[in-house]
Amino acid sequence: MEISTQPPRGTSDILPGQSDDWQRLESLAKTHLQRAGYKEIRTPTFEHTELFKRGVGETTDIVSKEMYTFSDKSDRSLTLRPEGTAGCVRAFLNAGLHRQSPPVKLWYQGPMYRYERPQTGRTRQFHQLGIEAFGSQGPLIDVEVIVVASDFLKALGIEDFEVQLNSLGDAACRPAYRELLREKLRARLDKLCADCRDRFERNPLRMLDCKVPTCQEQYKDIPSAIDHLCDDCKTHWLKLVELVQAQGIKPVINPRMVRGLDYYTRTAFEFVAKDSRLGTQSSIGGGGRYDKLVEMFGGPPTPAVGWAFGVDRLLMLLPDKSLSALPVFVVSSNPQAALATATELRRVGIQTELDFAGQGQAARNFSKQIQQANKLQASYVVILGEDELAKGEATIKDMKDGSQKVVSQSELASYLGKVILE
Ligand code: AMP
Repeated sequence: MEISTQPPRGTSDILPGQSDDWQRLESLAKTHLQRAGYKEIRTPTFEHTELFKRGVGETTDIVSKEMYTFSDKSDRSLTLRPEGTAGCVRAFLNAGLHRQSPPVKLWYQGPMYRYERPQTGRTRQFHQLGIEAFGSQGPLIDVEVIVVASDFLKALGIEDFEVQLNSLGDAACRPAYRELLREKLRARLDKLCADCRDRFERNPLRMLDCKVPTCQEQYKDIPSAIDHLCDDCKTHWLKLVELVQAQGIKPVINPRMVRGLDYYTRTAFEFVAKDSRLGTQSSIGGGGRYDKLVEMFGGPPTPAVGWAFGVDRLLMLLPDKSLSALPVFVVSSNPQAALATATELRRVGIQTELDFAGQGQAARNFSKQIQQANKLQASYVVILGEDELAKGEATIKDMKDGSQKVVSQSELASYLGKVILE
């Protein structure tokens, strides 16, 4: 059989050119998250299957339908991670991070795997960027994680999104709400889709975010979880909404948003962008509080909150080329001088390109070199013509407005450093 050059269904190669955007997003994420005190954690891409079964929940779509599970040669059941939180909690406990003074703040990124039907914005290997904050109970940290996410999106140039907010209650109030749902919906079961009928017994809350319009019709008059919270959950919820608003975010309260993972308690939120580039997908990230998960994994009671964004989806939303323009291109009649100047600029941290298409020792003519700079979307072109070289000068052309400035070659790096890096 011939070797296929197609990657497996639902996966794709990140090619040169595309990887520039990935790297820039990753480096922006790193600066942004570390500034807020989150430290990177890297966990394995596969874990014991049990971790996800128990952690994410047997009744979820992820565990019941979408996991890549296999036995290794020693007959251990392992699963490619479908999400990042369960692995973080396991590592948090294994490394004794629960003994550090709270909050312990972590961030991670990497590939996740779900056996889903591939379509625009939905793949079988996708990438998540996530944060987790352990050890703080009050709503202030819920608000921090939401604000950090919202600011990160804006720093990426993504402005058009909505923050949906809900509360799912906790062990004190959720069971009664679940029963109430069953009571109200039992008589309507024959009008619901097969998935909802299945969720009725296993996980009735999940029925509420069913995407089938005829099911939504049936849920119109169903009371929301927010109206059935116990006193503690209600206090948390009201304060959360107040604090989010005080930070300048206008949340959209969505009592139908329940998230696909079982571990959430109280706060659940989703970042939604209605954008045709995402196809029929609109969730770009989501998260919430998971106050019982650490305990469920054998640790001490530890409240926690976090989120995960789909990096692939974020990249689809980037304003055109916002991340991929080249800062500087050097044009010169002398290729050696062009390389020396590019090297000098690179040493001070400025990404710089030059033309390599000349024959032998000769440079291409200036207009060909400028064409190349335009192709690479250079913000500035440094011109080292015969004149400039003779006088020890360089002409800097701002490609946006066409303005030019002459500086001495010895000042070039510090001048451009100020303009580009500060
Ligand atoms: P979840 O872990 O299901 O809450 O998903 C969090 C985010 O990960 C979503 O908002 C998406 O941006 C992204 N995501 C989840 N599943 C996929 C997938 N199959 N393909 C691409 N992105 C995904």
